[in-house]
Amino acid sequence: MPEGPETRRAADRLSNRIRDKELSRLRLPYPPISEFEGVLELACVKSVTSRGKALLIRFDNDLSLYCHSQLYGKWTVNKVSTEIRWNRSLRAEFIAEGYAVRLWSATDVEVIPTKDEESHPYIAKLGPDVLDETTSPDMIMSRLESPRFNGRSAASLMLDQSFVAGLGNDLRSEILHQAGVHPKTRPKDLDAERIHKWGSLTKSVSIRSYQSNGLTVSDELAGRRKDKGERRRSYRHSAFCRNGLDCHECGSTIERIRISGRRLDMCPSCQVM
Ligand SMILES: [Zn+2]
Repeated sequence: MPEGPETRRAADRLSNRIRDKELSRLRLPYPPISEFEGVLELACVKSVTSRGKALLIRFDNDLSLYCHSQLYGKWTVNKVSTEIRWNRSLRAEFIAEGYAVRLWSATDVEVIPTKDEESHPYIAKLGPDVLDETTSPDMIMSRLESPRFNGRSAASLMLDQSFVAGLGNDLRSEILHQAGVHPKTRPKDLDAERIHKWGSLTKSVSIRSYQSNGLTVSDELAGRRKDKGERRRSYRHSAFCRNGLDCHECGSTIERIRISGRRLDMCPSCQVM
């Protein structure tokens, strides 16, 4: 499932191609939304943004296209002349200035009044979006310390979209490893310094991932590992997908555990209870 940073990057890519541009074609072949094709074809895209893992395309006629990609949905941006060779189902297509923006396979797609976005069942449950400018490290720290969240395990909080929206499985391992927090620890077990580190890294690691196309370590560290022949899936992270490899902090071997069936990679020396 794409994480918040990945969804935000997709929104940026779409925005570059369709925002404030005259659409030469708009198609909505997916039956649940196809009735809106006529009215949206005449409208102009005012913004493309993300909330958690949902993407929102807002039009100037007060309608928004909402899409949660789940595991299989995919947005593509291609030149119109590019031939597409796959068997996915087309859900939406926007053509503007020689480029085609297309949504494939997703089933959680709706057209809703822009004013009702916040009451959409998925969006209404979201906590502050980790990439939003108004979501500060201090705000994340006070949520960690609040009675609502401070008795929950770190592993469960990091995937709870009502705690902070936009984190996913990769970022969970990354943030907890870099903050030195054991996945079973609860915020109320930690001192202020550790909470501070956890809150700041929740923000900074997510921003880093958003700005660097999925890297959560420094360019320098990633580059050194790449030169040693490591593959992108491991060199770009500090713990996630590095099980069996060394921890760059202490040299111990990163271990993989599963919590509720989902992978979590951690350092047994840096992350102790
Ligand atoms: Zn370590």
